[in-house]
Amino acid sequence: MTDVLNPSTGETIAAVAGHTVESTQDAIGRAADAFQRWKATAPAERAELLRAFARAVDADIEHLARLEVAEAGHTIGNARGEAANVRDVLNYYAGGVERHLGDQIPVAGGIDVTFNDPLGVVGIIVPWNFPMPIAGWGFAPALAAGNTVVLKPAELTPLTAIRLGELAVEAGIPVDVFQVLPGAGSTVGQAFTDDPRVAKIVFTGSTSVGEKILAESAKTMKRTTLELGGKSANIVFADADLEQAAATAPYGVFDNAGQDCCARSRILVEDSVFDRFLELLEPAVKGVRVTDPSQEDAEMGPLISAGHLASVRSFLDGVDVAFTGDAPSGAGYWLAPSVVLPKSPQDRIVTEEVFGPVVTVQRFREESEAIAMANDSQYGLSGSIWTRDIGRGLRAARGVESGALSVNSHAAVRYSTPFGGFKRSGIGRELGPHAMDSFTEMKNVFIATD
Ligand code: NAD
Repeated sequence: MTDVLNPSTGETIAAVAGHTVESTQDAIGRAADAFQRWKATAPAERAELLRAFARAVDADIEHLARLEVAEAGHTIGNARGEAANVRDVLNYYAGGVERHLGDQIPVAGGIDVTFNDPLGVVGIIVPWNFPMPIAGWGFAPALAAGNTVVLKPAELTPLTAIRLGELAVEAGIPVDVFQVLPGAGSTVGQAFTDDPRVAKIVFTGSTSVGEKILAESAKTMKRTTLELGGKSANIVFADADLEQAAATAPYGVFDNAGQDCCARSRILVEDSVFDRFLELLEPAVKGVRVTDPSQEDAEMGPLISAGHLASVRSFLDGVDVAFTGDAPSGAGYWLAPSVVLPKSPQDRIVTEEVFGPVVTVQRFREESEAIAMANDSQYGLSGSIWTRDIGRGLRAARGVESGALSVNSHAAVRYSTPFGGFKRSGIGRELGPHAMDSFTEMKNVFIATD
């Protein structure tokens, strides 16, 4: 049994039994059997079952959200949005089942058509930072495309995934089509990667574990989608609406206490407005409401665990902290949002993913330098660009090597648009109109007419 703790208080809220290698292999075998039936389900019926699943999630939003506040310390407002995101992603891909079209290609002597064949059993491995949405981004398009799914939640946050598994069954998704298997990464996750019956792994988590999964998946030629770390830039040009850029910058990095792969954790500011920007940023940071995440007005909660708090704090050793916001003291894993002025671009705090409420602010002199600084990272997941010059905004957006950028906004992830990283932020894209393609093999068939 693994205890699940409430990160706001450190108290144990549940104990969850983890699967063994044997029980995981058994579940994969049942998922492989269920695949033969699920892929043969009429498209309209499969779509309707996914809509029924979405309705069940919708009816349970408040319950799911309260579970996420308790096990992950998410603010109640964010947690409701995350449960609603699962519903929306299910509905979006339910609409894709009957619209996942093949091609008819002109050839001599017959007709040529393509089919989108499902892969089989898809293993989805989820981190603790956004347990519900990240699970849904994998399982909804995978199921819609006709695959069966085994899903492993993170050890620290299994409760919402377990509930989603129950809701799927209550909604009528056939038994063994969608199974949730809590347990250790080195046991359940490793068993997914090792098993030749698993056709694809969808992994979201750290780059180090992602590398291992990619290497091991090669042995059985598994398809992989990897969503990994980030160190994204928020570029503020002198011609930007500075008030707006400064007022929103804290929310671009401190949302979910900075435990967000898309966190804009490096703010790059044009030299001529650097001091003014910092003046505006300070009250914005101090204004972030860090409090008990179950409060309706909470804007930031605790970090996920004592170990993670220690890891984030270690980044603050010996650095120049310009100013901080506030955080509760006492029980729980709290850290005030912190703004750091790095001494060098090679500082660890500039180059490594902190995954906490810490942001660096650096200056640049011209557009090309801003783009070069943004790209001076092993990662390339998201980023923001603030300017009133639309040409510059587009040039910078084309120049920054990242998968999900926004201009004059910090919007990164919508279920209807593609999401994923360049470089060591991952491989492949989730969400958007093409996600079901990555859960199918394209088959080409030529039929002679002569
Ligand atoms: P992690 O890599 O430690 O764990 C992620 C998942 O992998 C967990 O479920 C874990 O049990 C499992 N796992 C661990 N070892 C495994 C193994 N050998 N085989 C199979 N599975 C294994 O990551 P974390 O600490 O839970 O999450 C934080 C990281 O996730 C950060 O680096 C963050 O940037 C990244 N992340 C990326 C995205 C994205 O979309 N790019 C989104 C959220 C989080």
